[in-house]
Amino acid sequence: MAVPGHLSTAEEQEWVQKMVPKLERKRAQNAGKMRGGPSGDQDLMDHALRLSGRYLDGRARPKSIKWVDNQNTRWGSATPANESIRISSKIRGMPQWVIDYVLLHELAHLLVAGHNTRFWQLLEAYPDTERAKAFLEGAAFATSRGLSGETGLD
Ligand SMILES: [Zn+2]
Repeated sequence: MAVPGHLSTAEEQEWVQKMVPKLERKRAQNAGKMRGGPSGDQDLMDHALRLSGRYLDGRARPKSIKWVDNQNTRWGSATPANESIRISSKIRGMPQWVIDYVLLHELAHLLVAGHNTRFWQLLEAYPDTERAKAFLEGAAFATSRGLSGETGLD
């Protein structure tokens, strides 16, 4: 879901106006699924270990994983040296399949540091990888233009 590079500002605005409601509708559709999702840090750890077991043969086992509020430019980050993961609380409102992708992405970084072929192979088992990447690109794009999603459109 890359924004076509040749768009004028007006056209770009129009593109955003079209894409954001789509994301919002998806989000509303998935709101039900979210309720069962991770809430506290312990829930987040339990959920991460389930995902690791299901998609990474249980090989990624973080020592710590927590929600953080002060992460403005990244949805998540991993420090392989001390096997810790931080997940931005900004993704809390996103559909569960996007949250799961972010968790798996960071879990995979405990096994492979960079974004090389081996890294992406780890994420192949997860069926929503491409869709989630597109969702996050759209969300980052909207956020960088001050569209909060909550109040940007009715
Ligand atoms: Zn990464």
